[in-house]
Amino acid sequence: MVSAATRSSYASLAGDPRRLYPGLDWDRDVVVLGIESTAHTFGVGVASTRPPYILANARSVYQPERGGIHPREAASHHARVAAEVIEQALAEAGVSMRDVDAVAVALGPGLGPALRVGATVARGLAAYYRKPLVPVNHALGHVEIGRLATSVGDPVVLYVSGGNTLVAAFARGRYRVFGETLDIALGNLLDTFAREVGIAPPYVVGGLHAVDRCAEEGRELLDLPYTVKGQDVSFSGLLTAALRAVRSGARLADVCLTLREIAYSAVVEVTERCLAHTRKREVVLVGGVAASPVLRRMVEEMAGYHEARAGWPPPPLAGDNGAMIAWVGLLNYLSGITVPVAESRVRQRWRLDDTPVPWRAGA
Ligand code: AMP
Ligand code: MG
Repeated sequence: MVSAATRSSYASLAGDPRRLYPGLDWDRDVVVLGIESTAHTFGVGVASTRPPYILANARSVYQPERGGIHPREAASHHARVAAEVIEQALAEAGVSMRDVDAVAVALGPGLGPALRVGATVARGLAAYYRKPLVPVNHALGHVEIGRLATSVGDPVVLYVSGGNTLVAAFARGRYRVFGETLDIALGNLLDTFAREVGIAPPYVVGGLHAVDRCAEEGRELLDLPYTVKGQDVSFSGLLTAALRAVRSGARLADVCLTLREIAYSAVVEVTERCLAHTRKREVVLVGGVAASPVLRRMVEEMAGYHEARAGWPPPPLAGDNGAMIAWVGLLNYLSGITVPVAESRVRQRWRLDDTPVPWRAGA
């Protein structure tokens, strides 16, 4: 049984899995529990082969008292909340562990100490309840929940979050990375700048990041470095220069406006070149920064020039979440991908282009 609240909150999932994943057996009755713990979020989702497909998406997010994310503190937060979030997800889905066919876990990429909590919890559940353990790549979670939420078959994906920034598209059996950050992630750039100049935390209020909000009062674009190298972007020089500009007396709103125009334009430029090169017809924006209305508008406008469609998942499915791990866990499980508990290892630098996507084989 699925609770009414859950049904209504995910009723808007646009995609039909039978169309998006035609090779998989959707007549099977399968339920997968998925655990996310790669960074600040401890999330647990439940996915099913039956509508509404995503049955639960519970989470607890570690918030550092000051400064950035501290891997060991994130890990102890995850260990503290794990049991409660699992219970919450099962209750939300209206299932018990007995109804669960497999336990999926994001084994990377991410922060070692944080990853190990999710992996340990998942191994424990799988061993105790005698369920198969399913390894999931976190970035692939973002990509596939983005496809399900927007009903998009073959998109260029712009993944921008606190720890990741990359542009990917499917080609020859894998999601290929067409461009990525050479140093810090876009979300990290926004958060660090906002924190250092004292306009955050909280980083996001009313759906607007502090930098986007402050930029609304900006009048003038300043001279700050715009760095795109080939298909890759770099943000650490921009961060340093923006902080220096504020210290030298530039108007904060002008620095915010310049920072976000440069940073968003850089990722949109790389996405545009990927779109032109691959000739795909759709762009999907995923990761926590996908919630920025300003970035959405820029992506939409760029896609329009190429007669492509742009989309993004609703916020609970855009940032790190357990539902996307459960969803790829389900796809992997239906494709026969499991790992013996004794052989499961976290992979801090597990790349998206090093991850099998069997359900798109031959695409
Ligand atoms: P994730 O790592 O995917 O959970 O994403 C977290 C990142 O998304 C953080 O850097 C947040 O500041 C950023 N973020 C969340 N909401 C917004 C928003 N509305 N606009 C811009 N960035 C956001
Ligand atoms: Mg993420």
